[in-house]
Amino acid sequence: MKKPNIVILGAGYGGMITATRLSKLLGHNEANITLVNKHDYHYQTTWLHEPAAGTLSPERTRMPIGSVLDLNKIKFVQDIVVEIKAADKKVVLEDGELEYDYLVVGLGSEAETFGVPGVHEYAFSKWTVNGAREVKEHIEYMFAKYNNTAEKKDELLTFVVAGAGFTGIEFIGELSDRVPELCEHYDIPREKVKLYVIEAAPTALPGFDPELVEYAMNLLESRGVEFKINCPIKEVTETGVSLANGDEIKAETVVWATGVRGSSIIEKSGFEAMRGRIKVEPDLRAPGYEDVFVIGDCALLINEEINRPYPPTAQIAMQMAEVCAHNIKALIKNDPLKTFKPDIKGTVASLGGKEAIGVVGTRKLFGSSANFMKKMIDNRYLFLLGGPGLVLKKGKSPF
Ligand code: FAD
Ligand code: NAD
Repeated sequence: MKKPNIVILGAGYGGMITATRLSKLLGHNEANITLVNKHDYHYQTTWLHEPAAGTLSPERTRMPIGSVLDLNKIKFVQDIVVEIKAADKKVVLEDGELEYDYLVVGLGSEAETFGVPGVHEYAFSKWTVNGAREVKEHIEYMFAKYNNTAEKKDELLTFVVAGAGFTGIEFIGELSDRVPELCEHYDIPREKVKLYVIEAAPTALPGFDPELVEYAMNLLESRGVEFKINCPIKEVTETGVSLANGDEIKAETVVWATGVRGSSIIEKSGFEAMRGRIKVEPDLRAPGYEDVFVIGDCALLINEEINRPYPPTAQIAMQMAEVCAHNIKALIKNDPLKTFKPDIKGTVASLGGKEAIGVVGTRKLFGSSANFMKKMIDNRYLFLLGGPGLVLKKGKSPF
């Protein structure tokens, strides 16, 4: 019998865990497993606010795919996915085509702009290794330029973060922690630097524990961050941002973090989607497609208790990957499929330095205990992916 071809698109949290699990669940003779990714490395998206602000080397957030996956069991193809032709069971790549019997779509997300003009032209919105490097270099250039130009001085040192969700808060946490060092390095008085976080909703971190939100805001304000809450951004321009209340903030740096939508490949390929995400069946297959699984940020899953989608997180992407791998094996072996049910363990967000906030189970954490927990979560992922060796090589000290 012909060995089935399993093709996994995207080497993020979902794709990497699916690939490792499948390579353990299925023997060499049972299936061909192919992983396709844009780069020859895997990166931890959840760490990217750190290299973006310059508090961690980008090298720490990525690893060669071949260093963690067994490429004797998994064929790796470095290429860009252009389109999925589900009716023909084919994936079109920039440099060729792949045929599949089972497909896993784990292509992650793209910035959500909600139609705000100017985001792609004038804001930094790419939460990738290359995107993080660009933001960091730009920030440092602004500081370097300040003492060398007589014009536009204030805008050079004005940094706007759009969105006070977890990404915006974690990024400003890192940047506000680094600003004193940047000021010293570039001979700039601290009071010249303006840090804004602009949020459309009536609170920062909407939906999160109010006491922890207050803790985070107080801490960030003590580092000089100014919040503008209940204040949607209407447009990003060459000179800064325009707000719905008519105000304008002139800034040379706008970092966009107003949420995500699924990969544009999904809509381009004709799948029915909401904001680029496919509302998956309980077994994680795309409705109407027996052989297409969708995981991570490309998948939309409704939390029945509140009738709203679960937020797209690495935590869920990894759990989906486990069930997806199990279900592909079950299809191959004619076994029953599992239903996916997320097991949300909590949420912990870093605030720069040794500060963080979080809820784990029913426990609220802040300060150094939350920071400890955050580092443990980061290390746990490395452990799940590559065992203790990877934690030793790439892990973070929890202290
Ligand atoms: P990703 O991990 O984004 O991986 C997608 C992969 O697909 C990438 O390798 C990409 O290069 C590749 N790819 C994309 N398009 C193509 C293409 N056309 N062709 C080939 N390859 C392609 N979640 C948490 O649970 N906890 C956190 O603490 C947390 N912190 C975060 C911090 C930040 C700064 C950000 C931005 C997000 C954070 N998240 C966190 C959310 C989390 O990162 C995402 O939910 C998670 O990465 C989704 O995993 P994924 O496998 O779907 O996609
Ligand atoms: P998000 O959707 O969680 O937050 C985006 C914020 O931007 C919202 O508060 C929204 O009201 C605001 N916003 C939207 N339009 C705006 C506008 N025009 N002007 C000003 N504000 C606007 O998105 P995110 O922070 O990018 O996070 C994406 C996903 O990644 C989420 O699921 C999040 O939970 C997850 N994440 C988790 C962590 C963590 O657990 N530590 C960290 C980062 C991201």
